[in-house]
Amino acid sequence: MDQLEKCPANYVPLSPITFLKRAALAYPDRTSIIYGHTRFSWMQTFKRCCRLASSICSLNISKDDVVSVLAPNVPAMYEMHFAVPMAGAVLNPINTRLDASTIATHLRHSEAKLFFVDCEFIKVASDDAINLLVSSGEPTCTSPLVVVIDDIDNPTGSRLGELEYENLIRCGDPDTEPHQLTDEWDPITLNYTSGTTSAPKGVVYSHRGAYLNTLALLLQWGVGTEPVYLWSLPMFHCNGWTFTWGMAARGGVNVCIRKTSAADIYSAIMAHGVTHMCCVPAVFNMLIEGSSILMEPLPSQVHVLTGGAPPPATLLEHVGKMGFIVSHAYGMTEATGAALICEWQAQWDLLPADERARLKARQGVSMLSLADVDVKKQNSTDSVPRDGNTMGEIVLRGSNIMKGYLRNPEATAKAFEGGWFSTGDAGVIHPDGYIEIKDRLKDVIISGGENISSVEVETVLHGHPAVSEAAVVAMPHPKWGESPCAFIVLKGDRMENIVKEEDIIAYCQKNMPRFMVPKKVVFKDELPMTNKKTVIKSELRKIAKGFTVVLEEKSNDVREHLPVWLSMMSKL
Ligand code: AMP
Repeated sequence: MDQLEKCPANYVPLSPITFLKRAALAYPDRTSIIYGHTRFSWMQTFKRCCRLASSICSLNISKDDVVSVLAPNVPAMYEMHFAVPMAGAVLNPINTRLDASTIATHLRHSEAKLFFVDCEFIKVASDDAINLLVSSGEPTCTSPLVVVIDDIDNPTGSRLGELEYENLIRCGDPDTEPHQLTDEWDPITLNYTSGTTSAPKGVVYSHRGAYLNTLALLLQWGVGTEPVYLWSLPMFHCNGWTFTWGMAARGGVNVCIRKTSAADIYSAIMAHGVTHMCCVPAVFNMLIEGSSILMEPLPSQVHVLTGGAPPPATLLEHVGKMGFIVSHAYGMTEATGAALICEWQAQWDLLPADERARLKARQGVSMLSLADVDVKKQNSTDSVPRDGNTMGEIVLRGSNIMKGYLRNPEATAKAFEGGWFSTGDAGVIHPDGYIEIKDRLKDVIISGGENISSVEVETVLHGHPAVSEAAVVAMPHPKWGESPCAFIVLKGDRMENIVKEEDIIAYCQKNMPRFMVPKKVVFKDELPMTNKKTVIKSELRKIAKGFTVVLEEKSNDVREHLPVWLSMMSKL
C-alpha cells in the first residue's frame, strides 16, 4: 500500500466553491436566481462570480484578506459567497440588524480591506460605521474600500465613491481562473457571534468544514434535485446555514427577498412553487398570522427547516397542520450552522399529532459531518446516562467545527478544552439517542433567532448615570420568542420619581441596536444575590416570565399565540 500516494488527480482540496463551476456545466440554462423581475441562469451566475472575483483581485485583495458585506438576501449577497473565496479572500457577512458602532467593531477587528454595502444600509455603514472607524484614531485602524451594491431590480442610483457592484462585474474578466486552493483548511468565511461577553468573536470556517456541512445538511434534510429555495433565512446567519453553497450543489433556484414578511413568503410560494425554506421558530408566528393571505391551500409541498432557537412543540404542530413539512435542526455559528438534526423515523408517523410534534421538538442526532456528539456531566469528562433526565453540557467534535476564533487564542483554547467543542447548552440524551436541550448554560436571550448578550445590555445600562446595578434576563415576547427585560437598582433614594422606565429605554435606544433594547424595565431596591455576590438570575427570570409585551400593531391577533410562547418559556 505504501507506494499509493496523493497526487493532483486523486487529492483535491475540498471546497464548496467547486459546486458553482459544476452547476454552470451541468445545468447551464437552469434558473439560479430569481429576485423581483431579475433572473439569472447558472451559467450567468458562474460568469458573474468569475468577473467579480477578477475585479476583487484587481483591487489588491489577496489571499486571506477579509471582505465584509452588509446586505439583505439579494443576488449580490449570494454571488459574493462564491466570488470572494474565488479571489482567495475571506467573506465576512455582517448582520444587518447591528448598529453602526458594532459594525465598526467588526470591521476593525477583522481588518476588512473591502466593504460591500447594499444601498439600503449606506447611512449606517458608511456615514456612521466608517466615520466611527476613522475617528477612533487608532494607528492600526484603516478603513476599508467601500463598494455600493445598488438594487439590481430597482436601481436607486446610490453612489458613495467610485466603486459600484455592477461596475465591478462589468469590468471583471469572465475567463479568469479562480484562486487555486492548495489547502482545504484555508479560511472561507468569517462570521461574528455575540456570545455572552461584549467582545466580538469572529468564527472562522475552513473550505473543508463548509464543504462537508453543506453536503451533510442537503443529505440529512433530503434535498433532492431542482429545489426551489426561498431565502427566508438571512444569508448572514452562518452563511444561510450553508444553503448558499448547497443550492449550487443541487442546481436549485434561489428565490431572493429583501425582507422576510408573511406577504413575501406566501407570494413567493404561490409565484415560484417554493419547495424548501429555512427559518427560526419566530417566523412561524408570522406564517400563522399571515395565513389569511393564502387564499387556497399550499400549492405544493413546502419543506421548512427550523432551528436557531427552541421550537415549541405546539407551534410545530400548528405549522404542520397548515401543510408545511417541518424538520428541526440545532446548531450554532461555531458548528458551521447545523450540528444536530431531528432525523424523522417512519414509525413515528403512526403516533398522534401532539406526540409527533413533541418528538420533533427534540434537537436530534448528529450531522454526518460530526465525528461525535456527547452530553457531559458538568465539570466532568463523564457522559450523562441516556435517561432523558440527567442534564449536562452538549459537546461536539468533527469536521464542521470552526477553525477557531479570529485573533482570540484564549477563547479558542477554552472552546476546545478537553478535545471537544463546548456548546454552552444544557441538554439530556433520551434512551433512543436523541438529544434535547433543556436550558442554556449561559444567559443568552434569543430574540427572533438572534442572540442578545445579557452582559452587553447590562454594560450599556451601567453607563446610565442614575443606574447602580442592572441585570437583564429573557421575558416572553409574542413575536420574537424572547426579549430582554431589565431589573435595575437606581443610585440614591426615591430616584424613581426622577428617572422613569421610558428614560432608561430611550437611553438604550441611543446606545445599542434596537433589537437589544429591553422591552421592560423594573426598578428594585436590591437585586437577589448569591453569597458570592452574583445576581441570582433564575429568580429574576421567574418574575419576568409573568410579563408580556403588547405589540403596537395587530396586538389582538398576536395575543392568540401567546400561550405557545409562554409554554415554551415554561420549559426553559
Ligand atoms: P448562534 O451561534 O447565534 O446560531 O446561536 C447558537 C445557539 O442558539 C445555540 O448554542 C443554542 O443555544 C441556540 N439554538 C440553536 N438552535 C437551537 C434549537 N434547535 N433548539 C434550541 N436552541 C437552539
